[in-house]
Amino acid sequence: MSHQGYITTPPFSQGQPGMGGYPTGFSSATSQPHYSNYSGTGPSYSVGPTGPLKPPSSPHGPAISLGYSPPSPAQFGQTNLQNGLCNPGNQMPSYAVSSPGSGQTSSFQSHGSHPQPMSQNTATPAFTQQVIGQIGNMKISGYGSSQAPSQSDPSLSGPSFQPLFQGSQLPQHLPPISSRPTQRMSAAPVAPVATRFPGGAAPPATGMNMSPAGLNPGNVGYQHGVGQPPMAGYLPQQGGIYGGQQRALQPNYPGTYPGAPATGAQLAGPQQKKLDPDSFPSPIQVIEEDKLRRSGQLYATNTRGQVPPLVTTNCVVQDQGNASPRFIRCTTYCFPSTADVAKQSQIPLAAVIKPFAVLPANETPISVVSHGETGPIRCNRCKAYMCPFMQFIEGGRRYQCGFCSCVNEVPLFYFQHLDHMGRRLDQYDKPELSLGSYEFMATLHYCKNSKPPNPPAFIFMIDVSYSSIKIGCVKLICEELKTLLDKLPRPDEAETSTIKVGFVTYNKVLHFYNLKSSLAQPQMLVVSDIGEMFVPLLDGFLVNVQESRNVINNLLDQIPEMFAETSESETVFAPVIQAGLEAMKAAECAGKLFIFHSSLPTAEAPGKLRSRDDRKLVNTDKEKVIFQTQSHCYETLAKECVANSCCVDVFLFPNQFVDVSTMGVVPLATGGILYKYNNFQIQPDGEHFLNDLRKDVQKSIGFDAIMRVRTNTGFRATEFLGSMYMSNTTNVELAAIDCDKAITVEFKHDDKLSEENGALIQCALLYTNVAGQRRLRIHNLALNCSTQHADLYKSCETDALINFFAKSAYKAILSQPLKTVREILVNQTAHILACYRKNCASPSSAGQLILPEAMKLLPVYMNCLLKSYVLLGSPDVPTDERTFQWLLVASMDVGGTQLFFYPRLIPILKMDVNSEEIPAAVRCSEERLADGGVFILANGINMFLWLGLNAQAELIQGIFNVPTFAHINTDLTSLPELDNPYSKKIRMIIDNLRSQSPYSMKLVILKQKEKSEGILKQFLVEDKGIHGGASYVDFLCYVHKEIRQLLT
Ligand SMILES: [Zn+2]
Repeated sequence: MSHQGYITTPPFSQGQPGMGGYPTGFSSATSQPHYSNYSGTGPSYSVGPTGPLKPPSSPHGPAISLGYSPPSPAQFGQTNLQNGLCNPGNQMPSYAVSSPGSGQTSSFQSHGSHPQPMSQNTATPAFTQQVIGQIGNMKISGYGSSQAPSQSDPSLSGPSFQPLFQGSQLPQHLPPISSRPTQRMSAAPVAPVATRFPGGAAPPATGMNMSPAGLNPGNVGYQHGVGQPPMAGYLPQQGGIYGGQQRALQPNYPGTYPGAPATGAQLAGPQQKKLDPDSFPSPIQVIEEDKLRRSGQLYATNTRGQVPPLVTTNCVVQDQGNASPRFIRCTTYCFPSTADVAKQSQIPLAAVIKPFAVLPANETPISVVSHGETGPIRCNRCKAYMCPFMQFIEGGRRYQCGFCSCVNEVPLFYFQHLDHMGRRLDQYDKPELSLGSYEFMATLHYCKNSKPPNPPAFIFMIDVSYSSIKIGCVKLICEELKTLLDKLPRPDEAETSTIKVGFVTYNKVLHFYNLKSSLAQPQMLVVSDIGEMFVPLLDGFLVNVQESRNVINNLLDQIPEMFAETSESETVFAPVIQAGLEAMKAAECAGKLFIFHSSLPTAEAPGKLRSRDDRKLVNTDKEKVIFQTQSHCYETLAKECVANSCCVDVFLFPNQFVDVSTMGVVPLATGGILYKYNNFQIQPDGEHFLNDLRKDVQKSIGFDAIMRVRTNTGFRATEFLGSMYMSNTTNVELAAIDCDKAITVEFKHDDKLSEENGALIQCALLYTNVAGQRRLRIHNLALNCSTQHADLYKSCETDALINFFAKSAYKAILSQPLKTVREILVNQTAHILACYRKNCASPSSAGQLILPEAMKLLPVYMNCLLKSYVLLGSPDVPTDERTFQWLLVASMDVGGTQLFFYPRLIPILKMDVNSEEIPAAVRCSEERLADGGVFILANGINMFLWLGLNAQAELIQGIFNVPTFAHINTDLTSLPELDNPYSKKIRMIIDNLRSQSPYSMKLVILKQKEKSEGILKQFLVEDKGIHGGASYVDFLCYVHKEIRQLLT
């Protein structure tokens, strides 16, 4: 077992009486880990009476008809049918070849021969039937080929899966599509309205970015059933669709593509497309629509359960009683009232909490409240802090806790009269009564040993072994620290930081430095007994930067010289962390270690590691071992670091395997992070690393933190996912937490929730700020509750869902086979969408895929998650790369996972150079890369500038100051600063993208048709992956098939 942050949480059945004063019943209920809930043992999807019996008052989502374009002769004349989806030879025996207008007999006849662009108004029931027939017969390549169950698989047509409709009878129940009222695209994402995408009803000429091969006028895009009358033929079955057993897991879904050509070298031309991608929900369109509707607006948090703008939309948040979405985002803003409804929908109930999110300058900073010597006022029973959810009664003498209903006395000093509405007269004067987020001054009672905390420390620990010196990073670090030390985090009003600093260098032994301000020269003390690490000096190791400035600079000048001729190639690692920890223990302070390390620690010492890059484990039941630590020494060390508030950040400069999963254990558990720079060279990588280091050192941070999430009766936090540690079931321990770290919390019902009270969440974070003050940061959020599925589905936030799915799946692979985890994700996606279809959507043809408006991107994002290195299970991907991404995602917020799994692909060609706006992105697919274009692709970690062969000379000249494409130097990692609008604009875009990510994102320049270009392909996530993984279209078809099987 490794990675404390994820797996050491004891079973939730272990009650923690006395922890924070929870009523005993609160922690006694048993709860299963997420990944065993849905893995096949417990069906638990019986449909309760509330869902299906309630006729939908209105349809709640767009429908996609998965129509096929009639193949053109040209398409079939080619052999390069890479998609395989509709490969007539191998995959779809029933797929008869026809050409547009040929009218020849085939199952595609009526579709293929349609001479006009297909629109909803011209479609016929017969057409619907044909489409259904096609999809029913469709076999999707890449989903396990022969092992994938087909419609006729007897194992799927058992008693539990009797189709609701009997095949061909279905269309007879359907009114002609032309009779359905249609509606144009709606801007309201939460509104249950239909969306019609270009490429559907619109003639091809007006469609956007349609590829010649893929475009077909016969394609039907979004259809929808707005206003469809309930049909007699559709009677929801009592006891349900999920009433029987859950379907067996899909064998081998959707593994790698055995036959997929590894075309990593070059991006080929547009692949064959039979389905028009423009007819599928587009992340870009959803993002842009939300921006159009809500960007720049004021978002006031005064309404319970309101869904905030998307994380990609920039707006001004005004705290009016609920925490800003910058601090908390939820998977849904309307919780199901009962566990039954929650189980039926399978929508995870989770909140992604980023307690220290940075607020922009145009928003009100966090207010600080003092309740005097007695400390913050809290509920006697549940210990919740004073907040807007407390109800004052009896003329203001008492208050009822919104979380546990306990009635508490109001302390005399806090008494205030109530107005005729029962509100305190001073409600709007007190942040804790009117705001969602605020801070309390904490009293000594909240401090370790009831003593005020000492100023925190930053300790810089530099590997000075041969490889580290050779690549030049030691000199680089030392030079940078000279200026960076002036920029340590400090309180807003302070001129200087109180953070103390210390320095250690090491290879097989450790060198400590005495930097006392009275010294003329720094003194080095060597510790070679690394088995029993101790700090050889107390006075003079941790110093004030200003006081010891000269000695520090002297040291930083000397370090690169001292070790310039070193031949020592072995390093230790665990003793380095131990040394930093011991120094902080001795100084009785919290703080952070910055460890700069280059190689696998193979020297004889605690935590010695061996190279174990065994990719043979990939796709076996032992694959989880890859993500587990090889030395338990690191787990012990991590616990000790957490207990002593010692956060660890590691900067790795490896040129071979370094066992990231073991070296990442301590950063993960301590709220730290691990950076990695493969084959580091000063020239291309130096600036990238320094930018990361600058961001990391300067970011706002809290130390020695404990986070607690309280809820009102009816549900509770059951699982915590993130870069953190838990020694019991309720307290999230964070040696430190900075402004970029987010913790994802899952909730489960333990009782009913009432629609009247809603679901209340209070996150309280006790920490020490950079000024050394103990504070309590409180975030409150009220959500709605409902017994209706429709309310739940329309209040979902897909970006938050993906954050939860990613973190929980990444955790699950530590204990379960990758294949199982992938299957669970796919099945859960299908269940969520099938439940919607059954309970919320208007009845319509089974051939239509109906997606909830707020969740229409779930399939595309889920596919991106499944294709991530971690879940892909491809032996082509270096193990360290997988575990590195695993660690990165662990602490990501909603914006981070959104961008990471669906990168931003920004066309530069179209940009209006005079506008301040960032051009709208395009979908992450190869076919969007036009020959003439220049594109930037960024995912928060990586950034590429892709140059098309025929990029305009003006653009090339403007950006690079060279005459032609051939002259561009692809070794550049930053663009020349030229005084022309193209150069300014593109640099502005890059800066903007970088400013939104915790990572600096090295710029890599790629030219079309050059070998290096292949690297971009893995980021074009709507296409089939180069290392495996389905295309968006394939995945959507697959999920649709799953949904249909669940519904029959
Ligand atoms: Zn209470």
